[in-house]
Amino acid sequence: MILPFARLGRSISAVVRTETDRCPGVLAVHKAADGGLARVRLPGGLLTVAQFDVLRQAADELGDGRLELTSRGNVQVRGLTGDGPRELSQRLYDAGLLPSITHDRVRNILASPLSGLDSDSRYDVLPVATAVDHALCARRKLAELPGRFLFALDDGRGDLAGVRADVLVRALDDREAVLTLGSSGVRVTWSDAADVMIAAAKAFLKVRSGQEWRIAEVPDGEARILDRLGLEPTVEVPTATTTVDAGRHGDDALVVTVPLGSLGQEQAAVVADVADEIRLTPWRSMVLRVRSDPAERLDGVGLVTKPDSPWNGVTACAGRPGCAQALADVRADARRVTPRLPRHGQPVHWSGCDRRCGKPAGEFVDVLAVGNGYVIDGERMGLR
Ligand code: SF4
Repeated sequence: MILPFARLGRSISAVVRTETDRCPGVLAVHKAADGGLARVRLPGGLLTVAQFDVLRQAADELGDGRLELTSRGNVQVRGLTGDGPRELSQRLYDAGLLPSITHDRVRNILASPLSGLDSDSRYDVLPVATAVDHALCARRKLAELPGRFLFALDDGRGDLAGVRADVLVRALDDREAVLTLGSSGVRVTWSDAADVMIAAAKAFLKVRSGQEWRIAEVPDGEARILDRLGLEPTVEVPTATTTVDAGRHGDDALVVTVPLGSLGQEQAAVVADVADEIRLTPWRSMVLRVRSDPAERLDGVGLVTKPDSPWNGVTACAGRPGCAQALADVRADARRVTPRLPRHGQPVHWSGCDRRCGKPAGEFVDVLAVGNGYVIDGERMGLR
């Protein structure tokens, strides 16, 4: 719980936390009602097909068989029992998916998933995401970052403008970008971008009291960090945003929505068969680099390759039986109801309780279980 309060003479609020940072990782497995839950960080959402197959097999042999895509472009394996967590960490380490023991939970780096693959991309930010990841893991102190601290690199199209990153860099062109830590913009060159992002994270650790997880929670955090870095806001923060729809983008990229972000074995096997490269997005979809047109095969196993599908934009928390707090099996209810509806103009999120885990950033249709039905945007509804 966050308790806001005002300090004498200043209209600021600080944070007093009554809970510890329990973000799961590969090594910090969360005990869920359906067994252990491990979250695998994938900076930039990037996966080779071989790595994806390691995850698929691990879910099959050690977990509940499914890969769960998260709102930060990461992947979760759940239903781990017995020696499963140890075996999983060994497999991920061998596959290069656990490059740092100490920094497992802090490698939260989003990058525009279509970067470099279509004409909307002003700059290929994926190499910068990799550089930030390496620099992060190389600095021992940065292992102290909270598991929720988020870096994001937007290739200029505005798809990550609304993800509420702590440190966001957005391309202006192939030479320059805008850094923002909240509301104001600082012009940076691409050659400096990774260093400045890391410096901002280090400065956050200096200015926080120890209890804040995000820059926005630190009183005057943005201004104090910029001051420490010797930076002054010089440019407007671009406000244009866009979304990335399912379907073909550019010559060889196919965006595939995974209904409710839950990928089964048969679906994963088809993905591994048709893709040359896989990028997970923060919207429970995947960008596949493909040579031919595999849409029919993907549609055939229940994945979504069309922008008008009602599954686009629909997400759900774990719900029952995975979460002990859940008041309903929200995924089963969403699976029953969603195919009967047209695609909604806004994201739709189903939650098993009012914590609303995994809810989208920005405006969304709020479908909340209340024990004996659902409340949709505050109004009780019967869902049959
Ligand atoms: S929103 Fe509630 S029910 Fe859903 S996963 Fe979070 S805590 Fe569990």
